[in-house]
Amino acid sequence: MDRTNPATGESLEPIPDDSEEEVDAALDTATETFATWKDVPVTKRQQLLANAGDVLRENKQEYGELMTREMGKPLSAAVSEVEKCAWVCDYYAENAAEHLQTERRPGPAHVEASVSYEPLGPILAVMPWNFPFWQVFRFAAPHLTAGNVGLLKHASNVPGCAQAIQEVFEEAGYPEGVFQSLVVHSDEAESVIEDDRVQAVTLTGSARAGRSVAKTAGENLKKSVLELGGSDPFVVLDDADLDAAAETGAQARTLNAGQSCIAAKRFVVHTDVYDEFLDKFVSAMDDVTVGDPTDEETDIGPQAREDLMEDVHEQVQQTVEEGATLELGGEPLDRDGFYYPPTVLTDVPRDSVAATEEVFGPAAAVFEVEDEREAVEVANDHHLGLGASIWTRDLDRGEEVAHRIDAGMTFVNELVKSDPRVPFGGVKDSGYGRELAVHGIEEFVNKKTVWVQ
Ligand code: NAP
Repeated sequence: MDRTNPATGESLEPIPDDSEEEVDAALDTATETFATWKDVPVTKRQQLLANAGDVLRENKQEYGELMTREMGKPLSAAVSEVEKCAWVCDYYAENAAEHLQTERRPGPAHVEASVSYEPLGPILAVMPWNFPFWQVFRFAAPHLTAGNVGLLKHASNVPGCAQAIQEVFEEAGYPEGVFQSLVVHSDEAESVIEDDRVQAVTLTGSARAGRSVAKTAGENLKKSVLELGGSDPFVVLDDADLDAAAETGAQARTLNAGQSCIAAKRFVVHTDVYDEFLDKFVSAMDDVTVGDPTDEETDIGPQAREDLMEDVHEQVQQTVEEGATLELGGEPLDRDGFYYPPTVLTDVPRDSVAATEEVFGPAAAVFEVEDEREAVEVANDHHLGLGASIWTRDLDRGEEVAHRIDAGMTFVNELVKSDPRVPFGGVKDSGYGRELAVHGIEEFVNKKTVWVQ
């Protein structure tokens, strides 16, 4: 795997790919390990997960630096990401046994009916580079604790993170084979999904990759979970707190250099507050500091790869050609590395690139709407349906509008975020299945009915 530091454009030492024999041996190890791991008491599995949380906290600086080097996020954000991974470990270390407790079900008299939650076996996780630790722990914490074993196919630009994550589980005391990283490219994922030793697959990534993984999983009748892209609307109603909306909106669009599935991407603003909001929003976007991700003053670093930066720029240019007005940004920064500035587009045609595609960089598309009805219509006018954020001082109104948005997650007066206590996932082309909370841990278990008469 070739690696490049996106902050400088310099090559990092490559990490060798796994050979076919190595992948085969890893699948054998996973199968053998599962045979005993599934019978380890859940309390013991919870203890190991708590240890993993401790390992993460002890080494957060080192892991943070690794993320920054491989994909360019600011060091402070990378260290926070490691802390969040420790949090999801804590959550399932405390709650997994309760989430997996056998349930008594009502049945006829003299019948004991119950549902138990039993692990499936080796699960493949295909993961993206944008939150290279968090996405993996969001998968591993619940599913290893449920008694499954994990196989990671991480994105090709973050193989060092993949290795480090495997080491976290080793240091935490997990038996060999409970979590293994396969250093393979995307074209090798298909044969792993097809392999009889693999029971299910989860993918976090683009809709394109999701279609391919779901097709292979479907042909092989294997369960899949898909966490795909988003083009989340950020709806500003006429009674919103505009200072808070503009400040949080800029943060929601530029977090992780705009490379987040749940970033606010389409700003849908009521005409009565449009001018005032736009002034405040453009100014908040302009205040975002772009720079060296190791510098403490930096808010956003580079885009993770040169081709990704070029993609964002092309989408911005095309949208301008289609009739949008460029209010801010719009040109890659003239320096080494792959830096793109906070960018704001207005007068965005409803059928333009920025309105219809996912823009995976810090470029916001702003739409003016006449009323609440049109705001909901524009928010829902997209093939993706991951998250949404609604801004209003009337909380009942916010909740009511939240229910009318086609999304897996709607937040009122807050940016869309993931939290181990609530389920995460989307509708429409944003995928299916859920991660986190009780809903996440239930995705890869056999919900087994036992009827005793
Ligand atoms: P991507 O190109 O789909 O890559 C994600 C992962 O899938 C990588 O490991 C990649 O491997 C692999 N992959 C790509 N094509 C594949 C295929 N045909 N078969 C099997 N595996 C394949 O996505 P990305 O550009 O890295 O990530 C950005 C996308 O992820 C955005 O759309 C974003 O919204 C989405 N995302 C969603 C969530 C969520 O929770 N819903 C979270 C984060 C990101 P290689 O690196 O080897 O190509």
